[in-house]
Order: sequence, then structure tokens, then C-alpha cells
Amino acid sequence: MPEELKGQILVRCPVQMQKETANGLVDDVCDEIAPRNYAGYCKVHYTEYLCNLVFRQNVDPVSLLDLGELKQVFARANHFMPKQRPGEYEFQYKKRLAQLVASEVPLEPTKP
Ligand SMILES: [Zn+2]
Repeated sequence: MPEELKGQILVRCPVQMQKETANGLVDDVCDEIAPRNYAGYCKVHYTEYLCNLVFRQNVDPVSLLDLGELKQVFARANHFMPKQRPGEYEFQYKKRLAQLVASEVPLEPTKP
């Protein structure tokens, strides 16, 4: 395999879903290309996966998610996300976002 192709092996999203075909709805897998660092999911399902982690009980989003992932949760919920304050450490900002997620973002991910 050529060196430049290493690490670029395409991973396909394995999420089960129903697809509309000429014969009606059939059970299939998503099969979208999964970008690197997306845990093997496509963008849409990765965000869903993150939301499910957060919304599952007894999961601490602060220790589980990084800042970028928390931001995705806000984006997915269409919720206003406060900006990092001057002088605020990233871990403090992250904690603040996570508390906001826990207290204000709806507990059920909205269906598209
Ligand atoms: Zn997918």
C-alpha cells in the first residue's frame, strides 16, 4: 500500500437505519464514510452518539467529552453556547458548558 494512503482506509458508518428504496423502506446500514477520529461513525451519527453518551444517566460529560465534542452537543441541540471568558481556563469553561448541558439542554435528542 502506498505510504500516503495509510491511515486513510475508508471506514463506513455501521449504524442501522431504514432506507427508502423503490420497494419501500428497507433495513440497512448508514454506510456513510466515517471521518477519522469519529469513532467509526459518520458525522451525523457521531454527534448522535455523543448526545446519547451525555444523556445517558450517570455519565459525567466533563470527563467524557472534550471541548469540541461538547460544542457539537450544543450545536445539535440548537442551544446557545456561552463563549469562553477571558482568563477562564479551558477545564473551567468545559465544566460550565457541561453543567449547562446537564441543566438546560433537553434530555432527549430531537429527531431530525
Ligand atoms: Zn451514519
